[in-house]
Amino acid sequence: SDKPARNTTAWWREADRKHHLSPFTDYKQLKESEAGARIVTRAEGVWLTDSEGVRILDGMAGLWCVNVGYGRKELAEAAYKQMLELPYYNTFFKTATPPPVELAEKLAEITPAGLDMVFYGSSGSESNDTVARLARFYWKLKGKPEKAHFISRTYAYHGSTMAAASLGGMTPMQEGYGLPLPGFHHVDPPYWFDFGGELDREEFGRQAAKQVEDKILEIGPDKVAAFIGEPIQGAGGVIIPPDSYWPEIQRICRQYDVLLVADEVICGFGRTGYMFASEHFGIEPDMMTMAKGITSGYIPLSGVMVSGEIGRTLVEAGGEFFHGYTYSGHPTACAVALANIDIIEREELVRKVREETGPHLAKRLAELAEHPIVGEVRSLGLIGALEIVQKKRPRTRFPGNGKAGTICRDHCFAHNVVLRAVRDGMVMAPPLTISTEEIDELVSRLRTCLDLTA
Ligand code: PLP
Repeated sequence: SDKPARNTTAWWREADRKHHLSPFTDYKQLKESEAGARIVTRAEGVWLTDSEGVRILDGMAGLWCVNVGYGRKELAEAAYKQMLELPYYNTFFKTATPPPVELAEKLAEITPAGLDMVFYGSSGSESNDTVARLARFYWKLKGKPEKAHFISRTYAYHGSTMAAASLGGMTPMQEGYGLPLPGFHHVDPPYWFDFGGELDREEFGRQAAKQVEDKILEIGPDKVAAFIGEPIQGAGGVIIPPDSYWPEIQRICRQYDVLLVADEVICGFGRTGYMFASEHFGIEPDMMTMAKGITSGYIPLSGVMVSGEIGRTLVEAGGEFFHGYTYSGHPTACAVALANIDIIEREELVRKVREETGPHLAKRLAELAEHPIVGEVRSLGLIGALEIVQKKRPRTRFPGNGKAGTICRDHCFAHNVVLRAVRDGMVMAPPLTISTEEIDELVSRLRTCLDLTA
């Protein structure tokens, strides 16, 4: 027959087309595309290898998650050891196992002051779903059950489950899916490049924060449970807010007794040159969600950290929190997380990102700002973006609503560097172990692809 031999590129592609429904994929387009999916088979450091033996520079750390880089034996060994000892046991019904407890203590130590208890899940989406229920449960315990509404932002990404996608601000994920659910409201993001107009950056930041206050007053402060935001909106385009933004958001949340939730799923575990970006922006969240970098993506794990006040209320008020996942506190995942945090600390990755590789990326990106189709570059630590424009003055985007970004991204893929396009922006988030030479290589390939896009 003309069926390809098993476990070859052609066979994997055919099986992928026939039997696999991948996330965020146009299945018709994939079916009709000649090449099909690129099959990645191995990786080491920041380099992926595909099934044809081609080496690809991973400028996205997978999906913003492989913080300690690929091929870390310590993580495989931690999983192996834990699987032999106790691969799984639940943490429901007054039982616990050692790894989630040890990790909880560690997380209380490394997260910003005030956060000291954790509720586990397996994905960022689950952690944000937990926030949606936990915030309502908390206010019920406080005798204010009507405080049940949530405010978040356009272009936010908080996950794909129904509540997380409602918190998110991606309209294609909502329209036609019955979302957002009732009680989920959105305001504009602090996205100066597209929405700032003639305003000074800091003034724009204050006005963006004011939208949250206006929304609280519109809904009624007695009805608002929480505001949630990523310190830097990642999947929405690496939107780094003006310095004026977060302190103002915090002041507003405190004034109206609205819980402040930081989604650190991307920003956490060193990405920005701080263990958590909340430290950089001066955010003291009441809850913080984390996933991805907690295990560097080696195994699924997520968590919601809660403040002492929320923790005390849960412990003292009594009443069961009817919520949880089979894999909450999965011992193998938690053992890998502990080994992962150990690597981050031992190799001083956070300091290196803040003092060495982050500034190096910023410097190399600043050179790209001179490119004729680059309208702005921005980065903090090892998360960065550049905006593609047709003309710098007056600033004009290419026609096609994101088409230029897609073209540039496809050039990057063909040049064996993985970057993502968000509308007409290119975003990057390489592993935190990337060397300065590898950053040079990434930026040089990106420059070539910008030339080809122009
Ligand atoms: N929150 C943020 C900020 C994210 O970037 C993501 C995923 O990209 C999520 C939540 C959802 O995480 P998961 O895909 O693990 O459900």
